[in-house]
Amino acid sequence: MRPTPGPGPGPRAPQAVLAAVLAAVLVLASALLSGCARPAGSVAPGAGPGEAAAQSARSAKGQTHTAQPYRHWGLTAPLPAPPSPPARRLRLPGGTPLPVVHRVPTRDKVVFLTYDDGAEKDPRFVDMVRELRLPVSMFLTDSVVGPGYGHFARLRSVGASLQNHTLDHAALRGLPYGGQRAEICGQQNKLRARFGIRPRLFRPPYGTYDSTTLRAAADCGITAVVLWRAAMEGDGGLTYAHGPGRLRAGDIVSVPSGEPAGLTLKERTTRLLREVQGRGLTVGRLEDYI
Ligand SMILES: [Zn+2]
Repeated sequence: MRPTPGPGPGPRAPQAVLAAVLAAVLVLASALLSGCARPAGSVAPGAGPGEAAAQSARSAKGQTHTAQPYRHWGLTAPLPAPPSPPARRLRLPGGTPLPVVHRVPTRDKVVFLTYDDGAEKDPRFVDMVRELRLPVSMFLTDSVVGPGYGHFARLRSVGASLQNHTLDHAALRGLPYGGQRAEICGQQNKLRARFGIRPRLFRPPYGTYDSTTLRAAADCGITAVVLWRAAMEGDGGLTYAHGPGRLRAGDIVSVPSGEPAGLTLKERTTRLLREVQGRGLTVGRLEDYI
């Protein structure tokens, strides 16, 4: 809507023309505000995925930054949509009693973004996940999340999945069965009480585990232990546990909690996405594959 100066379509008093122009400016301003200055984390905590999708569909109409959200989040190109996931989840090698996965055996040009602990609760990260439709997996530790579960309810409502990373972030290897089971089943119970979910995936703190961990995790309803091949450091650089020093199809990337003075989760995610794009890859949903 662009007000044109000069003779209008009919005889109108100058005040009426002025009022019309002002009204048009106000409409334009409110349209811009709803697109660019949306309050952080504005999806209501109780909103389900349907409502989140409806909100992004509504805001995608005719607003520059939501039409091209990648620019808003520091990317120079849109993130390609991931290929259709496998019809059924992959049969993983090994696995007695549980498979332990460092990377996903797929040729699909996808990597998987996993976030650990749940220390950072930046509402802009919720916006980023929503606008870029990032299928991220959050491995949560109860004692780290503390009273901050509402943030993860918002993340879940915009498409993130929530998985198990123990009650108290204990290094499990060597602990007796009872202690390991309490750490894992205890967090299953917390997540079920908070969100009504039964996580299938478990990441042991520090990536350290033993055969007792696998037995306890299986007994708590876990179907796979998820480690990683690539990890993001506090400065935004990636390190690789083994194999080539670059991202490949099927890689699982771990993004631990950062230092308080370091890059924010949003900034580290932007760096990670640039690296993903630079390798001709995109982000897949881990739970579709394992
Ligand atoms: Zn951790």
